[in-house]
Amino acid sequence: MHREPIPLAITVSSNYIAPTPVSLSTENLALLAEATRALLADRPLAARLDDLFRLMRNRLTYTDARLTCWLQSAQPGTMRQQFHSPDGWMYPWDDGLTRQIALGGQIVHQPWLPPSQTDHHENGSQAPVLQATYLGAPIWWGGRLWGVLELRAMHSEDFDHSAQEFITALLPQIASAIAAEGISQNQQIVPVTKKDELAPWHLHEHEEQILAVLSSELEGPQTLHQLLTLLLRWSLDATGAEAGTISLVDHERGELITQIYEGYPSDRFPSDWSSLGRQRRSWDTSLAGRVARSGRAFLVRDVSKEANLRLAMSNIRAELAVPISANGQVLAVLVLDSPRSAAFGDAELQFVSALCERAAQPLLWALSYQEALESSTHLGQVFASLPTGLALLDISGRVLRANPSWSAIWGLDPHIVEAEFHVPFDLVEALLSRLHDPFRLTEFCVEGQRAPTEVQMATVRLINPAQELQVLSVPTRDSLEQITGRLWAVSDVTREREVDRLKSEFVSIVSHELRTPLTSILGYTELLLARDFEPADQRQFIKTVYDQATHLSQLVEDLLGVSRLDAGKVKLNRWVVALRQLIAELTNQLNAQLDRHRLLIRLAEPLPPVYVDRDKVKQILFNLLTNAIKYSPQGGEVELIVQETRLLPADHPPGRWLIVSVRDQGIGISPEDLSRIWERFYRVDNTNTRRIGGTGLGLSITRALVELHGGRIWVDSVVEKGSIFSFTLPVATELDRRG
Ligand code: ADP
Repeated sequence: MHREPIPLAITVSSNYIAPTPVSLSTENLALLAEATRALLADRPLAARLDDLFRLMRNRLTYTDARLTCWLQSAQPGTMRQQFHSPDGWMYPWDDGLTRQIALGGQIVHQPWLPPSQTDHHENGSQAPVLQATYLGAPIWWGGRLWGVLELRAMHSEDFDHSAQEFITALLPQIASAIAAEGISQNQQIVPVTKKDELAPWHLHEHEEQILAVLSSELEGPQTLHQLLTLLLRWSLDATGAEAGTISLVDHERGELITQIYEGYPSDRFPSDWSSLGRQRRSWDTSLAGRVARSGRAFLVRDVSKEANLRLAMSNIRAELAVPISANGQVLAVLVLDSPRSAAFGDAELQFVSALCERAAQPLLWALSYQEALESSTHLGQVFASLPTGLALLDISGRVLRANPSWSAIWGLDPHIVEAEFHVPFDLVEALLSRLHDPFRLTEFCVEGQRAPTEVQMATVRLINPAQELQVLSVPTRDSLEQITGRLWAVSDVTREREVDRLKSEFVSIVSHELRTPLTSILGYTELLLARDFEPADQRQFIKTVYDQATHLSQLVEDLLGVSRLDAGKVKLNRWVVALRQLIAELTNQLNAQLDRHRLLIRLAEPLPPVYVDRDKVKQILFNLLTNAIKYSPQGGEVELIVQETRLLPADHPPGRWLIVSVRDQGIGISPEDLSRIWERFYRVDNTNTRRIGGTGLGLSITRALVELHGGRIWVDSVVEKGSIFSFTLPVATELDRRG
């Protein structure tokens, strides 16, 4: 057997570990020389490693050691082999960690917890009892990965710097020992081999036996996830691959959906990967995609020899991708990866292909089970999360299943619906005090039972609080088209109906409000054009036209004001303002309207200035004063009172505030209308207000403007006696004054 002499002053050169000359202590050097001799002895590898493990005990304190390597002599293929130190430890090794070390390319020294302690530790509930430590070293030599050496010890200081130095120096010697076990003479690198082009291959008897065991396990009842996990685990174990994935194939979209993976570093699959949902990717780019499209297996022995091929990660050298097909269609693709070139050969290809063939039928079953499960989960989610109340009733009207919205919309306790609940009797009874027309709902239920194949629809009106519900009832059928009952879908249409009402009110008010002034403008201008009038009459007519046009312009202004407020476009231009002067300007403007009324102004003395938008406050006051005049058609006093107040409403912001009140002796507002007058387009409907005319916009604009200043507005009113509208404005602070 040819032995390559290994120099003792070593330079470790690989893609992964930076070339660092290792200068060893005399003690380490002597031991290394002894270890090298043991490793190069003319004995089987297992015996040589036994010697090594024993020798290592002179230098290191460790509980046990393991060498995982890939023997080239096991041709064709490179099955993985493992060698353990003579005295093992009771805790099993972690193969996943071994794969990580192989892929990572670095020596890793970290705490090691027995499996039961790992759980406690992660929960943070209990500190580990055992302070064990782990050292994993990938064996790179001559640009190749030969294996992974792992050691465990009771205490972390057992692998100190000098111990690690010794192990680093030992690695090339171990590589050489593995290589010496048998270097394949005709190891040709075949970049991509299609399965069909391989020579006929027969599995070994023991492989057939393994396959038989696996097939019987695969055929046991499995969920998709269990099945794929088994399949990937066996494939990794049997081939010694460091990493692998299984993806399902979506032929319609031309995509692969990764289902499970093992062994990759976390940056390829983030640790919370499963919560991110299934990763989909096009089948145009990867080797797995090629397998999905062609239905043929591919074997890449060494990607660095293949110019046009890029694998998902730069340190993957070999890849094996095998389809799992049934009924002529590729269902899934299994991919195995390794950082070792020629990690997979024909043996692995044949074995994994045979395994995938046996997995096809179980996968087909698992997929159809999964599909049924998914679609019922989807439907269940839709059912539970829809805002529409849904209830499945049997023929007798008993609720079989209802979603949370069902009881919420009817305002029922969900527990009543969960128990025996017969819609035709129990629903009417439960809602009796709220049903506007109980008979209507009973009739609806009876009609449904009389004509079970008909689709029905009805609107149910509830009171306290007022609510309008739309009920759609459709017959349900089983797979044999037999009627099984009904599905009730109930939606709350209160808001939609309200919006409809507002819309039609808007159209009728605006058209009425526009038409009235327009008719008089047209009438008077026609008159003026038709003949000559006395100057005094002429002046009177033109004044009317002017007044009506002003009214029209006010209406347009209000409508624009509403839409600007809606869009949040109204911004305040605040200044320190003395209300006295502002009110003086306003009363001049209003004087023209005051033929039957007396306007009284009472301003407290002294009156601190306010910090407000001048024009907006003028608009607020103008709206309230014109309303006071409009809604006291018999005339009387209209009083404007301004004073500072400490008596603020309960939810009012703190600080110094002025309170402004507008009092009239007019028609007043009934208690039912009091809360609604602030709504847009809401007008109290009675003979008085119908005659007076208006848009129902003024107060809603006024309130929005007061609130923009941080203030509040409210009203007290007695029908036939009069109303007092009051609002607050912020007193200017010292800071506001300094600007
Ligand atoms: P408009 O006056 O254009 O109808 P508003 O929004 O200003 O619209 O007022 C809404 C409703 O509130 C009015 O239609 C009226 O019925 C009632 N209202 C407002 N101010 C008074 C008041 N001072 N006295 C009696 N009713 C009033």
